[in-house]
Amino acid sequence: MSRPERGSKAQLAAIAQLLHQRGWVANHDGNVTARLGPDRFLATPTATSKAAVDDRGLLEVDGKGNRVAGSGRPFGEIGLHLAVYAARADVGAVVHAHPPHATALACSGSGLLERPFIAEAVVSIGPSIPTVPFSLPGPGAAEALARFAADHDAVLIASHGALAWGADLEQAYLRLELVEHLARIAILAQAAGGLRYLPDEAIRPLLEARAKANLGAAADRAVEGGARPVVACAPAPHSATPVISPGRPSGSEVAALVREEILRALRER
Ligand SMILES: [Zn+2]
Repeated sequence: MSRPERGSKAQLAAIAQLLHQRGWVANHDGNVTARLGPDRFLATPTATSKAAVDDRGLLEVDGKGNRVAGSGRPFGEIGLHLAVYAARADVGAVVHAHPPHATALACSGSGLLERPFIAEAVVSIGPSIPTVPFSLPGPGAAEALARFAADHDAVLIASHGALAWGADLEQAYLRLELVEHLARIAILAQAAGGLRYLPDEAIRPLLEARAKANLGAAADRAVEGGARPVVACAPAPHSATPVISPGRPSGSEVAALVREEILRALRER
């Protein structure tokens, strides 16, 4: 099967199906959106297993979550996605699921992902994946999330799951994958004797590497100001890149760039 075109309906449907294949959703859980243009978003339909989503079943909603095209109904958590889009003009896609390890941390309140413990992840996603405090589903949950959208690229949501966003569908999906991977590692490390966080002095060169890779406005500010970097995840990348941009580096190219930048930053110390 050929790879779906980036930013296409086929790519969004493929990512929805991946959420099910990876075991990150059950029943009708999970949802995926992509920005199509001003006040227009492509979305998965509600009340549908992500295993059954195809490009014909997708719908379009406006900035208030009202359906403007397609036959399915918008999902109830659309407010979470719209809160991120409203806060971040650079975001082209949002992916939400209940991956078991990330959700276990979201339900335990342990905060294990709030400090960095793997160098490469600091460059890729920033030094902290915070947990949005619990709110009942609805506008309160969207408001709670909105406070985290400017300075982070992924969050856990207390007693709920995980949400990640990016310049395009691939980046948003890969960030959610990284959150689940880090959560699994953190849980295993705790069981293996205790999770050890990176030393404070390691954070600055990693944030410099993140800035060099054009992966974080907050990291840029921390480096420019010469201040001790704040432990807060930066948005990435911070250009107003549209969702369909064939010239942008792919997720694997970004990963290679991140590895290079880490090595360079550590060599230059
Ligand atoms: Zn959910």
